[in-house]
Amino acid sequence: MKKLAINGGAPSRDTSKNPWPQWPVWGKEEEVALINVLHSGVWSYNGPKETEFNKRFAEFTGVKHAICTVNGTVTLQLALEAVGVGVGDEVIVPGLTWQATAATVIDVNAVPVLVDVCEDSWCIDPKEVEKAITPRTKAIIPVHLYGAFADMDAIMAIAKKHNLYVIEDCAHKHGGEWNGKKAGSIGDIGSFSYQLSKHLTAGEGGSVTTNNSELAEKLDALRNCGRRPEPDATEEVDKGAGDYGDDDGNFIQSGNLRITEFQAAILIEGLKRLPAQNATRDANGEYLNSLLSEIPGVSPIKRDKRETKKAYFNFAFRYHKEEFKGLPIEKFRSALEAELGIVVDASYEPLNNCSLYVPHTKPARHKLNEAYWKAIDPKRFSLPVCERIFKEESVCVHHKVLMGSKADMDLLAQAITKIYTHAAELMD
Ligand SMILES: *Cc1c(COP(=O)(O)O)cnc(C)c1O
Repeated sequence: MKKLAINGGAPSRDTSKNPWPQWPVWGKEEEVALINVLHSGVWSYNGPKETEFNKRFAEFTGVKHAICTVNGTVTLQLALEAVGVGVGDEVIVPGLTWQATAATVIDVNAVPVLVDVCEDSWCIDPKEVEKAITPRTKAIIPVHLYGAFADMDAIMAIAKKHNLYVIEDCAHKHGGEWNGKKAGSIGDIGSFSYQLSKHLTAGEGGSVTTNNSELAEKLDALRNCGRRPEPDATEEVDKGAGDYGDDDGNFIQSGNLRITEFQAAILIEGLKRLPAQNATRDANGEYLNSLLSEIPGVSPIKRDKRETKKAYFNFAFRYHKEEFKGLPIEKFRSALEAELGIVVDASYEPLNNCSLYVPHTKPARHKLNEAYWKAIDPKRFSLPVCERIFKEESVCVHHKVLMGSKADMDLLAQAITKIYTHAAELMD
């Protein structure tokens, strides 16, 4: 009789009787808030919910300004535009991230320069950043990936030395804290996503955060057809035709990238839930990591001591085939998926060979000239650490597993041990 669930044995968790916590989370509060927006007839455009959420998110993140917009891709694009990145500029981006981090650099006609990540955190390697700097470098986009934090001390020091902008991609890090400072408050601009998979969500949505009032004004204009922020939010402004430029009456070219009041209403309620959810995920994540460090063949992602508050988007850990009786990682992931009744993934595909990062499929848009066409070729970058993580090491599960009980963490660890014990079943 084979023991592993993938071979017909009893699974470690019978999800028909004992489901994992659900995501997204909502309650009566969200229902009431949505109905109130519906009945108010104010469904968009700098409405009371959007204004309230911006204020709350700025306070939560410890910044002067938070501005919401349609998603965490547009936030990056607007951030790049706001700091003036464009033709002739290079932006340093980690090779292991969601495609938007690099694709948006191309969308503002600049060159994404892909660099390798640290083996223990999977976040951008400051040494590689330093090596990649040229006279054309204008900005760095560190990504705080999964549960980890990019080394912001090192990144900020490099940026200062070379006079570069730092845009923090915080799509995984709402509420995370580095040396007592929240993710999104350390660089020039923070970029957040509220896509359904993220740990604060309205289905879709995003925010930019900054302490720089000039950047905030630009960002606000860029998401609102080029209009500057309303001179006085309490005043009745003719929102149809009566437009408003800056003090000198100047406008910026842009489009409509505004969020709806329905999304903002959901986000206000979600933000109230987030601190407790983050704390639960942190406690469970720490406990699970302590268990993982006892099991042969797997190890936790390093938690930097400077990370004073954890925010998990998904839970990732490292797999070491040679210590796991030589079992190929694909077989390990499928076996774990069958034991747990939940999707078990690899990390993002490294961007030098990523099926969703293919700028050369859009010549009509991106082929500005031959030199640019060559410069944006993802294949020209060598990313050995990213490739090793993706192909040989990465195991990722949804953050909802961290929202259960301590017993759930024990069960997860036991499932891994079970696969280790019965690895021979998977070898032929
Ligand atoms: C999700 C994500 C984005 C993009 O956010 P969307 O809201 O999906 O557009 C950007 N960067 C990272 C690292 C992400 O995970």
